[in-house]
Amino acid sequence: MNFKVPRGTQDILPAQSWKWQRVEAIMRDICELYRYKEIRTPIFEQTELFLRTVGDTTDIVQKEMYTFTDRGDRSMTLRPEGTAPVVRSFVENKMFGYADQPVKLYYSGPMFRYERQQAGRYRQFVQFGVEAIGSDDPAIDAEVISLAMEVYKRAGLSDLKLVLNSLGDAESRTAHREALVAHFRPHIGEFCKDCQSRLEKNPLRILDCKVDRDHPLMASAPSLPDYLNVPSKLYFNQVQSFLEDAGIEYEIDPNLVRGLDYYNHTAFEIMSTSKGFGAITTLCGGGRYNGLSEEIGGPNAPGIGFAMSIERLLLALDAEEKSFEDEPSLDVYVVTLGEEAHRKGFQLLQQLRKEGVKADMDFMDRKMKAQMKSADRHEAKLVCIIAEDEVAQGVVQLKNMGDGTQEQVAATAIAGKIKELLK
Ligand code: ATP
Ligand code: MG
Repeated sequence: MNFKVPRGTQDILPAQSWKWQRVEAIMRDICELYRYKEIRTPIFEQTELFLRTVGDTTDIVQKEMYTFTDRGDRSMTLRPEGTAPVVRSFVENKMFGYADQPVKLYYSGPMFRYERQQAGRYRQFVQFGVEAIGSDDPAIDAEVISLAMEVYKRAGLSDLKLVLNSLGDAESRTAHREALVAHFRPHIGEFCKDCQSRLEKNPLRILDCKVDRDHPLMASAPSLPDYLNVPSKLYFNQVQSFLEDAGIEYEIDPNLVRGLDYYNHTAFEIMSTSKGFGAITTLCGGGRYNGLSEEIGGPNAPGIGFAMSIERLLLALDAEEKSFEDEPSLDVYVVTLGEEAHRKGFQLLQQLRKEGVKADMDFMDRKMKAQMKSADRHEAKLVCIIAEDEVAQGVVQLKNMGDGTQEQVAATAIAGKIKELLK
């Protein structure tokens, strides 16, 4: 029987995994700069959590969740996104009582959605995200957006576009909602089944429909910005001026509505504008969710956050034909010939590693030439050669792979010499 990786998932092999580690290191560093602390929540949650927060008219809930009944007859769901679990934890652990507000958190881990597989769309993917909960200062909206942009820039991306919109507060959304229902109702029969059920439950979702996006009524639909009340407009203007102060360029897209129910006020996406990127261009999505904590039984705790997948970040790097320069390489490769030399070589290897030198040797009993090839492949800076003569004389041949020079060094002095050369 042949086993294969499940559809929509992938193995991250060593040729790629080091890049993931670089991205993760960048994320951690930037979060530390901005004082966001890591939170790790379970991979699965009670299904009800996502029904209540993500919303039962969204694609995620209607089509994409991995839901199962556990042996105790409880409905569980592999997390499709990170915000609901984080806010659940915020409420459950009473983080609203922490002396330091807002609570600034980040996470990174696998998410699961039953999607049609294509480039940049997987059934298991890794999202990095941040959440700042407890403040409705528009400056923190700008901070969160800036953090996301910083990750991409630090990773080396330059073909980026930040798109911004405001969904307004509850009052603005109600006014807009009524206008949407009036707009779509007379022709709702021409729309897909999902849109028909969205009309009453959540007409805003119609604008996010991937089936009917080209229907003429979409372009002429009542536009959100026209329904923002005064406080919502003021808030949106403030977010924009904080972004301008931070030197962050953006475009406003009045049709940007995010795929989850819980957003209000600020909504944003970061796209790749690289020609090589293909159909999917959104790298990151985020927004403000002021009612979410209350929705799951917590106190009033306004929040904002974003999520980005590492898969799409790496695809964008490929599209821009960029990569990280510092691919991990070896300091020293130890070449040995003969049993006694192999023992000495292994001792040297372990000594070097103890002193923080990245080192490896041959474990396949190969010929000298094949061992030198390995040293080359691993881009070793130095090679130590130990054969019978070297064992007898208590020396090591030290070859510098950079300039090709070779010298003989006493075995007792070799570790010191190597460290000196690597400095
Ligand atoms: P899309 O419109 O691409 O379906 P979305 O609105 O479902 O995106 P969000 O739920 O906001 O996306 O997730 C935020 C980010 O997570 C996306 O911008 C993207 O980088 C990433 N993402 C979402 N779904 C997937 C997936 N199936 N595979 C890989 N990355 C994903
Ligand atoms: Mg999606």
